[in-house]
Amino acid sequence: MTDQGQNAPPADTLEVVALGGVGEFGMNMMAVSYADTTIVIDAGVMFPDPDQPGVDLIVPDLTWLRERRGRVKALVLTHGHEDHIGGVPYVLPLVDGPVYGTPLTLALVEPKLEEHGLSDESGRLMPVRPRDVVTVGPFSIEFLRVTHSMPDCVALAIHTPVGTIIHTGDFKIDQTPLDGEACDLQRFAELGAKGVLAMFGDSTNVDRPGFTGSERVVLGAFEELFATAPGRLVVALFSSSLHRMQLLVDLAVQFDRKVAFIGRSLVQNSEIAQRLGRLRIPAGVQIRDVDLASFAAEDVLCLATGSQGEPRAALSRMAVSDHRYVTIEPDDTVVFSARSIPGNEKAIARVMNHLARRGASIVDSARRIHVSGHGSEEELKLLLSLVRPRFFVPVHGEYRQLSRHGEVASQVLAGGPDRHDVILAENGNVLHFTATTGRIAGHAPVGRVLIDVTRLGEVNDEVLRDRRHLSGDGVVVAVVGLNRQTGQLVGPPELLSRGMVIEPDAESRLFADAGQAVADAITATSAEQRADQGLMTEIVRDELRRFFKKRTGRRPLVLPALLEI
Ligand SMILES: [Zn+2]
Repeated sequence: MTDQGQNAPPADTLEVVALGGVGEFGMNMMAVSYADTTIVIDAGVMFPDPDQPGVDLIVPDLTWLRERRGRVKALVLTHGHEDHIGGVPYVLPLVDGPVYGTPLTLALVEPKLEEHGLSDESGRLMPVRPRDVVTVGPFSIEFLRVTHSMPDCVALAIHTPVGTIIHTGDFKIDQTPLDGEACDLQRFAELGAKGVLAMFGDSTNVDRPGFTGSERVVLGAFEELFATAPGRLVVALFSSSLHRMQLLVDLAVQFDRKVAFIGRSLVQNSEIAQRLGRLRIPAGVQIRDVDLASFAAEDVLCLATGSQGEPRAALSRMAVSDHRYVTIEPDDTVVFSARSIPGNEKAIARVMNHLARRGASIVDSARRIHVSGHGSEEELKLLLSLVRPRFFVPVHGEYRQLSRHGEVASQVLAGGPDRHDVILAENGNVLHFTATTGRIAGHAPVGRVLIDVTRLGEVNDEVLRDRRHLSGDGVVVAVVGLNRQTGQLVGPPELLSRGMVIEPDAESRLFADAGQAVADAITATSAEQRADQGLMTEIVRDELRRFFKKRTGRRPLVLPALLEI
């Protein structure tokens, strides 16, 4: 028995705590401890709802890790999605040791460290390859190739003194992956044959019957589009969908179109992926957005951000002729090649209306132009059959997905001679495993920490409540009267504030300037934009947020009230 410090798990016990992503989607993070060593698996973020003013990101509560400071010896990353790596800059200061991940995952972490002034820490990023094994205290951590919607994803097999545990990360079983790097089912089976104490499995798509299918299933629908699209082809997709990007680039080569990446995150991710050989674009195929004008529409493929209808993203700008280099024309074909995240439907529909008004033909997910990166029921069953863990813990999902995954696992595992148990856990549950037992043994502090990037700090519940109740940075109501026919401004906008601590004289000057900024922004819009009240509300909100941030350094809650007169 080792000498164990405060907060360490009981002797000969493996302690696993879900700090995020179990009972919810997003901000995945799990801590695994034995004796005096803790390792953290993933450090994800979640994005806020519109009713959380001034909040840019949500990360898991880090109290539990803070209490174990000095004993957290490594951060291990499964892949480069935001809900797995977005929180690295917040977690890294609590880790005394390396960050392990595949080269692509780490390359996507690097710009985040830069943004947070943590470039000095990049020496701690340790690239690993599938089947590599690294040792951290009592743990040997083995990386297993899995397939997902981006390249270079891994699951983890962690060999501990009480047995081996497997964390699947996000995965599907793509048997014909575009990059030829298949899911390492063979190794999963070998580990299963040797005996696996516990498996933590991705539950995202447990509700979908059958198999998710290879990324290649979208090829047919896209081939048809490339063959028939009369003008420019614009495809909106997530900037992390690197497999989709490769497939589209290959088709562009085949059908003799040039490719332009439009939107900051797409440009950044495509550069990183190209640097690592994860996105291969033959010389002369890629063009810059500024050069689009010199190519005929039918010779061009634009890959754009904005699949979720985000008002400031490339596609939304193109849709209202507000993009510098791309204007949608009647012969254009616009493809939404991503699932719509619940809550974004209205914004997406708005963008589609503008595109339709310009005569573009719109292709949405009714055609097979998107496939998920997460395994459906049969893939989850297959992995369970190969690994046959003694204990199974569903993760990555809301409770109903976890519970369904538990049922599926019970069906699969019931067949054999050995006993298997499902443990339905939620964030904060402390799980204890010995060589023969597994149970929920306690509770850890968990929750959500809201991050306001401009304040470089945490927004606690109280601050958020204050903001909601008209203090903190205050609230600004902008009453904007618009002519019913022309949509033009009728008189200067009126601004009212509560809770912005500022002298009356200074306030009237500030508000006069703010009113002018709103007036200028409205003048700069087109007649069509002015006819879209939802869009105009966003433009006024955006303009005022920017104005107050620049002039006062604050982020009041901005409530535009647009009145047609
Ligand atoms: Zn993922």
